Amino acid sequence: MEATIEVTGLRKRFGRTTALDGMTFTARPGLVTGLVGPDGAGKSTAMRVVLGLDTADEGTALVGGRPYRSLRDPLCQVGALLDADALHPNRSGRNHLLWLARSHGLGARRVDELIERVGLGDAARRRAGGYSPGVRVRLGIAAALIGDPPVLMLDEPFDGLDPEGVDWLRGLLRSLAEEGRAVLVSTPLMSELQGVAGHLVVAWRGRVVADTGVAELVADASRGRVALRTTARPEAMTALAGAGAAVAVTGRETLTVAGLAPERVVALLDAEGVPFSEVAAHRATLEEAYMDLTRDAVGFEPVAGGEESAR
Ligand code: ADP
Repeated sequence: MEATIEVTGLRKRFGRTTALDGMTFTARPGLVTGLVGPDGAGKSTAMRVVLGLDTADEGTALVGGRPYRSLRDPLCQVGALLDADALHPNRSGRNHLLWLARSHGLGARRVDELIERVGLGDAARRRAGGYSPGVRVRLGIAAALIGDPPVLMLDEPFDGLDPEGVDWLRGLLRSLAEEGRAVLVSTPLMSELQGVAGHLVVAWRGRVVADTGVAELVADASRGRVALRTTARPEAMTALAGAGAAVAVTGRETLTVAGLAPERVVALLDAEGVPFSEVAAHRATLEEAYMDLTRDAVGFEPVAGGEESAR
């Protein structure tokens, strides 16, 4: 059986709150699958159900084709990071890992390999109580990897990381997927997964509202858009909007234009005497594609964030 996470028709209520309302998705080997959606969308609940920490009212959640509770040696089947703060404050990171390793018949060598892999460095021998969010995430991922599982599930691992930490985590996730693992990562901020996710599952109100490959999504969002570089942004916007284009500001000297062919853009700017230095096919960022997708699918405004949207 392929090492996948397969969630089908999950429903879960907490009192009057519907946390999961028919959630269905699959995370496949060799790919980072982004589970993206605003707070309260049901991302954590779905992950907790996969691990058997919550019981669904309806539906199934399988890891490698089996319910989590029936897995033999679960840490060798699926590694998870749900709460990076769940640490004993007086224990060192290394001791935390040693304890976990021993419970699975693994030794100090495995622990030291993982400390190296996640770049814990000297922090491994310090008390976990003093760890920054970035160090806690490194330790949490090392713990998730202890049994070398083919499936990984990380709930909002980018939360609290500085830009350097975000870059590091993107690289690590890519390499874990390249090793053939199925990697499921949740986040409220699409921009974090730029260049990382191969597949996207967009969750909203306990349901999946989009399930798509990232390459197709970005190609769709790029189609028919023109990127323009000009020192006369207001004048360019007036000229192009006057011709019926939808114009968005993407930087101090850059705009994207939808609804006009590149030749029309050039002709219009020339006619109006607006200077420009570049007109090119636009390549959408993952976040732009996500914005389009959520607007079309359900009309919710996702949280904008990350460096891509701030540019
Ligand atoms: P996300 O991870 O996407 O932010 P969650 O799965 O944490 O979403 O939450 C989905 C909904 O379920 C939210 O409305 C949340 O308040 C509710 N919820 C989650 N866990 C519990 C719980 N243990 N008790 C009551 N409500 C809960």
